[in-house]
Amino acid sequence: MYSLRASRPTSFVQSFRKYFKMNRYYYDLHIHSCLSPCGDDDMTPANICGMAALKGLHIVALTDHNTCGNCRSFLKAASANGLIGIAGMELTTSEDVHIVCLFEFLDDALEFSKAVEAYRTPFPNREDIYGKQMYLDENDEVIGVEENFLPIATSLSIDDAYELALSYNALVYPAHIDRMANGIVATLGTLPDTPDFGCVEYKDSSCIEELTEKIPSLKGKKRVVNSDAHYLWDINEAENYIELDDEPYSSAYVRKQLFMYLRGQGRYADTEGTV
Ligand SMILES: [Zn+2]
Ligand SMILES: [Zn+2]
Repeated sequence: MYSLRASRPTSFVQSFRKYFKMNRYYYDLHIHSCLSPCGDDDMTPANICGMAALKGLHIVALTDHNTCGNCRSFLKAASANGLIGIAGMELTTSEDVHIVCLFEFLDDALEFSKAVEAYRTPFPNREDIYGKQMYLDENDEVIGVEENFLPIATSLSIDDAYELALSYNALVYPAHIDRMANGIVATLGTLPDTPDFGCVEYKDSSCIEELTEKIPSLKGKKRVVNSDAHYLWDINEAENYIELDDEPYSSAYVRKQLFMYLRGQGRYADTEGTV
């Protein structure tokens, strides 16, 4: 039986920080669907959201390579599973660095996706080598196939991609900065001062301390720990959470709070990192 409304976390925690009630929201903000060639064919919007709900997550983002093409279906599937869905994209810059762009509103994501098409490099996908790239509806019916290989580097530099994403109201952070392949730190040797990312993503939370020690510019940044899942079983367990204000409760309100948190706005200005 589907619940049509995102459910509140059952682990209710009160924080007296600034006298606001806060709840823990377990999240995974970097997941690929079967529209990414490297994403397993079972990574359908409904399967991803069903698995995330089983794992006890509350907020999930879909971030396929250089496209938001399955985000509409994903948000419907998230809602049907009592989750708060976020539309997103993992964009490959011209330096071959991966950055994650998240959108509070689906329309912004879809318009951004359209804009990014102009910067994608046309290169035919080889399904036999790279895998299928399938557009699905919320019932997991295939409604199209992407012919061009999506993950290939766009012609947007990190700075240009950041500016373009911001013009569509995105929240942007460098992906898996603790990874060699396509991580900004491994590629550039450091986290540059510009663009001024307020948030960074780790794949492995045990790397946070060591990397922050090595790269001083990481200090004071908001941190998220995401799975970058390409297979259902790789989706985060309910381990990493963000405490958010959720009164008066609605999924739209919590989504807005998440973006405020990641941007360090309002009551979230002086909270660093995640657990
Ligand atoms: Zn990546
Ligand atoms: Zn990824």
